[in-house]
Amino acid sequence: MKSYIKDATNRSIRKIQLPKNEKGQNLKISEYYAENVFDFRKASGIPEGVKREMLEVSRTGKLLHKEHAEIVAHAVSEWALSKGATHFCHWFQPLTGNSAEKHDSFLNFTYKNGEISPDISPIDKLTASQLLCGGPDASSFPSGGARSTFEARGYTVWDMSSPMFITEGENGKVLCIPTAFAAPNGAALDIKTPLLRSISKLSDEATKFLHLIGFPDVKQVIVNSGAEQEYFLIDKAYYNLRPDLVMCGRTLFGSLNAKNQQLEDHYFGNVNDRVLAFMQELDYELYRLGIPSKTRHNEVAPGQFEMAPLYSEANLSSDQNQLVMVIIKKIAERHNFKALLHEKPFSKINGSGKHVNWSLSDDKGNNLLELDEVDNGNTSKRFLALIAIIVEAVYRHAEVIRMSVASAGNDHRLGAHEAPPSILSVFLGETLSEIFSNGSSSSGNSSGNSSSNNNRILNLGAKQLAHLLIDNTDRNRTSPFAFTGNRFEFRAVGASAAIGFPLSILNAAVADVLVDSNNFLEEQLANGKSVDDSLVALIQQWFKNSERIVFNGDGYSEEWRIEAARRGLSNINNSLEAFEVLNSDHKIKFLIDLGIYRRDELNTRYNVSLERYKMQLKIEFATLISMVNQYVLPSVINYKLKLISIIAPMDKLNYGDKNYQQHSEDSYLKGIFHTLEKKSQVLYSKTCRLSKLIKEKSPDITNTLLPLSQEISILCSDLEELVADEDWLLPKYYDMLFLN
Ligand code: ADP
Ligand code: MG
Repeated sequence: MKSYIKDATNRSIRKIQLPKNEKGQNLKISEYYAENVFDFRKASGIPEGVKREMLEVSRTGKLLHKEHAEIVAHAVSEWALSKGATHFCHWFQPLTGNSAEKHDSFLNFTYKNGEISPDISPIDKLTASQLLCGGPDASSFPSGGARSTFEARGYTVWDMSSPMFITEGENGKVLCIPTAFAAPNGAALDIKTPLLRSISKLSDEATKFLHLIGFPDVKQVIVNSGAEQEYFLIDKAYYNLRPDLVMCGRTLFGSLNAKNQQLEDHYFGNVNDRVLAFMQELDYELYRLGIPSKTRHNEVAPGQFEMAPLYSEANLSSDQNQLVMVIIKKIAERHNFKALLHEKPFSKINGSGKHVNWSLSDDKGNNLLELDEVDNGNTSKRFLALIAIIVEAVYRHAEVIRMSVASAGNDHRLGAHEAPPSILSVFLGETLSEIFSNGSSSSGNSSGNSSSNNNRILNLGAKQLAHLLIDNTDRNRTSPFAFTGNRFEFRAVGASAAIGFPLSILNAAVADVLVDSNNFLEEQLANGKSVDDSLVALIQQWFKNSERIVFNGDGYSEEWRIEAARRGLSNINNSLEAFEVLNSDHKIKFLIDLGIYRRDELNTRYNVSLERYKMQLKIEFATLISMVNQYVLPSVINYKLKLISIIAPMDKLNYGDKNYQQHSEDSYLKGIFHTLEKKSQVLYSKTCRLSKLIKEKSPDITNTLLPLSQEISILCSDLEELVADEDWLLPKYYDMLFLN
């Protein structure tokens, strides 16, 4: 047996000590939940008045008084020091999509009149200004040419709406302060800032909408999100021997053995003990950080898993998903696994995505996308109007939403027969679709029948509608944007993506349609129309306009691709095309008009996305070339030598036809030999060509380099199937996915 398989299959299961009470029983989750989170509402060192002010600030984004910041800085540093933290850091999300941190120690000296006093004594302290603002050298973060090196500074500014937390290393702890990250001219250099802007814009417009339609008590609308996170786990021993996994996060080739996911027996299957131990430790660490992990299970592909948290406010949920990704990787290491968050680590089996669940609720916690059976006022029309607004938003800004999930990794997933297609459509389910199409087809139609039918449907009480919607929970897994009874599920987001960006675009799209809706309603009401009639007209207007984006059928089918083209829906099937949306003034105008992105920020986004995309592909090409030269061709040569050593002596024996068996074996081996010979020659010449093109800096990625690299991948996978296992120098899919 190969030594790496021995290593991977002989791992012992890691046990951890869970916290216990005096009786020696394990603590309940609720007893240690969020123990590493600083909740200012419960902090002892902060006066009630300051807490109230902070709550207000965190809700509205107002500025915090310096004196109050001092009180918080003191309270949080006391708390962090008591837990053993030595350092603090401003934790932020640059445009790389990862989280970033720069640590500073709490160490300070006592000063007198601005000078270190003669009897200097070291103290541990976090000042108000250290809490509020930091100025890391930002020159190494992607800025897409937004800044020149002489003004390389970026500023991190405390985001009060997301709580501070402590992370633990083997030899110390760090207090993390969630922050936004901006250039000196105020341009956002991160994912969080536009997300925050989009949340407050959407919240304002939705609140105004509710006021207009008869819910005057609503103070604020909250944007919620919950991101289901998919990932693969493979043993470290395999990972370390696959340069493609190390360098690119995905295998660049590999052949699939007979038992892949066809049986679909992995999904929700029994979780094996080693993986379960990992999941238990993962959940434990997430709970301590106040991340409400709720669900864990096997996913469809072998070696693939999922965790889903309870949903929360979108900014928090976005921060927490960044942490989830980091912690999955960290805990995996402790169990001798490597976690793969790439969108497509293995070809021909499912890739990984992130279902971003999204909804709106009011400040009393009522979900605005859920029908209450008790109709207190206009809830059914409110519900239908919001659904119509969201469908219009997705229709109107489909291309920008599609752009928000574009990445080199996600290119492998979108449009493959496993993930949502690259055509954006909305699943509403039969009932809702019917209600809307009845409603929309009659507008402008004076026929009394249809109009009364339509009014009857739109006038349904919440209770009747709720009953009708029960059958609507039918899940359509093939839709990129599906209504699932009380929320929309945006399923086109890649597993490794930061959800803050697509969330900001989705929020902006909905806010845009809300602005128009509010104008429309104001006009109607001013003309003496009733709220009811105005809402019906609004629903009809939007639905009539956007109906064609609703699709309840199989999004993976070829028929849908054809039908979608007939309907005139766009189908942007690669990232390069998607990024170009950022160069189209009229497509991105709403983002600028709503104040969610500045033009220069979108330019930055474009440059960074393009640069990262090209860089990623270049790394993949270079890795592929070196793997062909260092592993694939040497494996083939070894095996060919063996074949020659068998075939050559046989050739010398001139056996007759009677010795049929030996003869056929001989030609069988010769057959393999010739195929190897041919395929490896083709592989060699294609690899040389790819190297040459790269050396010549060929710019043509889509039409030349990418197809060439795909041909090389297929040849490598074919050769893997031909070469004897003992001669193949790389761990195979079979090892990585089944031998743990
Ligand atoms: P499924 O796989 O069937 O979609 P999961 O339980 O895996 O369901 O995930 C559902 C996700 O949706 C969870 O993260 C959950 O918190 C989130 N969710 C549920 N209700 C809402 C809501 N109203 N708004 C936003 N997210 C929600
Ligand atoms: Mg799920």
